[in-house]
Amino acid sequence: MIDVNEVVKNLTTDDIKEIMTSIGGENYIEHKNEIIFPTICHNHYAEDGSHKLYYYKNSKLFVCYTCCGTFNIAKLL
Ligand SMILES: [Zn+2]
Repeated sequence: MIDVNEVVKNLTTDDIKEIMTSIGGENYIEHKNEIIFPTICHNHYAEDGSHKLYYYKNSKLFVCYTCCGTFNIAKLL
């Protein structure tokens, strides 16, 4: 059986960017420690979202500063 949390832990930053691009988050801003995506977590269309969805490379967690809170990539998909 596949452990989702184990898979998430092994994803690289490049994997995250690839996944996010494939679900409409290609318009991101990358910094040293985090990547800022449009808030595709609660906006159906990326162009409706502001850049308030942060991905932290160290913790491998997303934080939506509008409403959704903290979650990993598995929850987002
Ligand atoms: Zn959100």
